[in-house]
Amino acid sequence: MEAFDVVVVGSGFGGAVTSSRLAEAGMDVLVLKRGAAYPPGSFPRTPHGFAGNFWDPARRNFGLFDVRAFSHIDTVVSAGLGGGSLIYADVLIRKDEHWFDTDAAGRPRRWPVTRADLEPHYDAVERTLEAQVFPVDVAPYSTVRKTAAFRSAASALGYEATTWDRIDPKRKQWFLPQLAVTFANEGRRPVPGERIEEAIRNLHDRDRQTCRLCGECDIGCNVGAKNSLDYNYLTRAVRAGAEIRTLAEVKGLEPAPDDKGYVVRYVQHPDRTQTIVKSRHLVLAAGTLGSSHLLLRSRHVLKGLSPMLGRGFSGNGDLLTAALCARTNTDDHGERRPLDLDASHGPVITSTIRSPDERDGAERGVTGFYLQDAGYPATLSWLLQVGSFPGTLRHVATFVLQRLRAQLTRRGPSLASSLEALLSDDTLSEGSLPLLGMGLDTPDGVLGLDRRGELTLDWSKKPSDGLYREVLGTSRAVAENIGARFLEDPLTSMLRRFVTVHPLGGCAMGVTPDEGVVDEWGRVHGHPHLHVADGSVMPGPVGPNPSLTIAALANRFADRMIDDMEERCHR
Ligand SMILES: Cc1cc2nc3c(=O)[nH]c(=O)nc-3n(C[C@H](O)[C@H](O)[C@H](O)COP(=O)(O)OP(=O)(O)OC[C@H]3O[C@@H](n4cnc5c(N)ncnc54)[C@H](O)[C@@H]3O)c2cc1C
Ligand code: SF4
Repeated sequence: MEAFDVVVVGSGFGGAVTSSRLAEAGMDVLVLKRGAAYPPGSFPRTPHGFAGNFWDPARRNFGLFDVRAFSHIDTVVSAGLGGGSLIYADVLIRKDEHWFDTDAAGRPRRWPVTRADLEPHYDAVERTLEAQVFPVDVAPYSTVRKTAAFRSAASALGYEATTWDRIDPKRKQWFLPQLAVTFANEGRRPVPGERIEEAIRNLHDRDRQTCRLCGECDIGCNVGAKNSLDYNYLTRAVRAGAEIRTLAEVKGLEPAPDDKGYVVRYVQHPDRTQTIVKSRHLVLAAGTLGSSHLLLRSRHVLKGLSPMLGRGFSGNGDLLTAALCARTNTDDHGERRPLDLDASHGPVITSTIRSPDERDGAERGVTGFYLQDAGYPATLSWLLQVGSFPGTLRHVATFVLQRLRAQLTRRGPSLASSLEALLSDDTLSEGSLPLLGMGLDTPDGVLGLDRRGELTLDWSKKPSDGLYREVLGTSRAVAENIGARFLEDPLTSMLRRFVTVHPLGGCAMGVTPDEGVVDEWGRVHGHPHLHVADGSVMPGPVGPNPSLTIAALANRFADRMIDDMEERCHR
């Protein structure tokens, strides 16, 4: 049996940071990763390519999007090398200083880490991800209309403009967040489509270009402007000697018979060969759903796991709404013209509103949230406008949607029917602006297993109604301010379901096993050398987009793992 110092399962924010840090510390690291690698230019753009771009090994689909329907909420995550970074909207925001406690159904609980603990790790991750702010004042970036429209609506609603590093937690503010996107080479003026100068040649060994404003961040950046994890942490891991096996899906783990580490069983797709490897240290970084699932399935061999396993699921308060058919103010002739927001021009998200919480000193009962100017890919405009296209395109769109439906409906009604309704209504147009809200929901969802060992999720929106009301109120006000019709929730209202792209929890941190599955350093209580480093360790919602916090925590965990290992070597 092959043996490694460390096996890391997953290559998202937790896995990429952990594998590069441990490989650079001289350890023999193997990364097992269920999806494929996506070099620049390889993200599908044809209708047929989209239709097959799902993770569904049972149907021989090994694509990028893993879309799942649970009983009251759907989740979207990525299966590719780099995890969620391949399809995320690039937004990097630090968790708010006063939001490090969690209100799980009326029981406030401090997190075992603070903002101060994470500050150096936030700095380190932002540097490695080469974060930049959208250069809104420089042409041609200044032509992105949705940023200006959202900013002006925020200002009219009392949100003052600030910068990402000067947020005042007590005030209602608007700012441009840092994005993991290269707009400009270091020390140079931002120019779309310029060759990116890399300090370390990326693992794909392919050239990359600066952001071309195509709005395709959520379906994979084909020019390599997005600084996804394959271009930084995973490249560093490989250069430091780590081995990455793609299409390697971990199915089980158990303590090694000699009690020195763990045996990991995985399936190599597409030929389905079963392989086992041994590892002294095992790091689960398979994301909230993946790591919780693996631990739940291994409960019988990992005796004494915390009773908190599977508990504390949060969708990070995600709520998608839309402003439709925006119009200008009345002109001298008393007319209002269509306002072209062109939400497919520019990175998917460019700016955000931040609303304070009662923990920040806002009125009692007020819940904190973020609201962002979302976009959609230009190459999907045909899909969004499908009602106005003749037969052929309609058939193509229907085909894609049917595939999405097939992906989801094995467990009941889903996202697909809502999209269909949305599209046939021809609701999205140049005057439309999707709005993405998120914040401090109540993390009381429970992940479990059904009789076949598949993951289940018991979740209800009810305990978080207060948050959703606040997000809806502000979203509606933004829509009215730009003269638009408000679609309360394109997905939820048509489908009566919620969708989260930010699933968190299930293996929460806690100082004792009664409080959490892992300690404040990501070490599984009662199981030496077993670690979890991903969104599942969050004891509650992050509030803003969570990836930066997941990566910062993983960086902190890695420090401790390296210290622990060095200490043992010296003994
Ligand atoms: C459309 C979209 C937009 C988003 N935008 C933002 C944003 O702008 N900012 C932000 O902060 N967050 C954003 N997110 C959320 C972000 O992607 C996630 O929070 C983040 O990726 C979670 O990191 P992670 O390390 O916990 O897990 P992931 O990044 O999901 O990584 C887990 C990895 O483990 C792999 N894996 C799972 N099971 C197994 C197994 N059994 N064997 C082997 N490998 C396995 C998965 O394939 C995956 O690669 C967005 C998400 C989506 C879907
Ligand atoms: S807008 Fe286009 S080019 Fe820019 S980061 Fe997103 S996908 Fe890449």
